[in-house]
Amino acid sequence: MSGAVPSLPTRGDAVLVGMQLVDGVDPAPREGLALVVEDGRITRITSPDDALGAGAAVIDLDGAFVMPGLINMHTHFSLSLPGAGGDAVSGLSPHELALYMADGARRTLLSGVTTVRCVAEKGGADFALRRAIAAGHVPGPRIFTAGRALCCTGGHGFDSDDTLECDGADAFARGVRSQVKAGADLIKLMISGGIAGEHEEITTPQLTREEMAAAISTAHAWGRKVTAHAGPAAIIAEAVEVGLDCVEHGYELTPEVARLMAENGTALVPTLVVTRAGAFFDDLGVPTWMQQRSLGAGPRHMASYRYALDAGVEVLLGSDMPPFWNFEGTSAVVRELEHMQSGGLPAPDTVRAATSAPARWLGAEGELGTLTPGAWADLVVTPTDPTADVAALRDIDLVMKGGVVVRDDHRRADVSSG
Ligand SMILES: [Zn+2]
Repeated sequence: MSGAVPSLPTRGDAVLVGMQLVDGVDPAPREGLALVVEDGRITRITSPDDALGAGAAVIDLDGAFVMPGLINMHTHFSLSLPGAGGDAVSGLSPHELALYMADGARRTLLSGVTTVRCVAEKGGADFALRRAIAAGHVPGPRIFTAGRALCCTGGHGFDSDDTLECDGADAFARGVRSQVKAGADLIKLMISGGIAGEHEEITTPQLTREEMAAAISTAHAWGRKVTAHAGPAAIIAEAVEVGLDCVEHGYELTPEVARLMAENGTALVPTLVVTRAGAFFDDLGVPTWMQQRSLGAGPRHMASYRYALDAGVEVLLGSDMPPFWNFEGTSAVVRELEHMQSGGLPAPDTVRAATSAPARWLGAEGELGTLTPGAWADLVVTPTDPTADVAALRDIDLVMKGGVVVRDDHRRADVSSG
């Protein structure tokens, strides 16, 4: 070997055998197949005998389950909630913040999340992080980002650098353009109050119909989808009527508004864990008023989620909390999936809500969130079947992104390579 030290590999080759394949689309696992990965992508799904000639390192999974890496549709690498933990993040210099976010990106990837959708990040650091990960300078998931979220003056999240205050239709159109100019893949609007704002209620409507319509039509003209932080049903209905593509939280949906969302193809990222996050708030020193508001909203939030399921709304995985956070015996992202499942979504559908369904929303169908020829080899391995119970993901022991093994607790890849 020469003295040269490369950046992190972003694409690898491998042959996976001995697995039960959960492809992110079919409800049941299939066995007796081999997955051939070349230059980061799955090129063939074939018989093990046929695959062994491929020449790449062979990973024998010994009967374990392989599924697409998780796609987390609601993350903030620069999250700062009220309280001591958040104040420490808010106090970071721009350089410190970028490194802090890189650490979060690495831990997110190792938790099994191979793609994230960032829905409000501070200081434009998300764009730098996205480039650094793509270049192999730091490890992390694939990033789709909204840049800064747009809120009204004094609106949800106004007191942090991860939002941009706008007032009036023109200012919202300008806000959308500014984030597209910065590199945003989508747009995030704060259309109502929430849990983390001291001077608002979850039910406070914050944008006018004209402001929402201006932001959404401008974003669509530039080929960007729009999602909205939203609590109460009435303003969600207005936003859906003017073309909103996705609702975050949806704390207080009604059956009627859930049906309206289903009819218009508006997705829901329920983030159920944020109203069940007492231990996380304790970790961060979140003030009592916020804890009470959050936990108090829990039952209504779950009822709202059930209305969405009953109406046939497409629900998607999103943790809001850092996905990797050590929470109630597992990670926040797995805990969110467990809440989605126990709230009434069958396990195979919960797997899809974490893989192929988010990929479709992101416009990456066939590239991400599925294990089929042509897709990136982004995957996780668990000893038990996630399509029987998503709690299986508590035991993720191997993570691969772009054909590169980034986590391998049981040295599955080591033992059989060569
Ligand atoms: Zn959030």
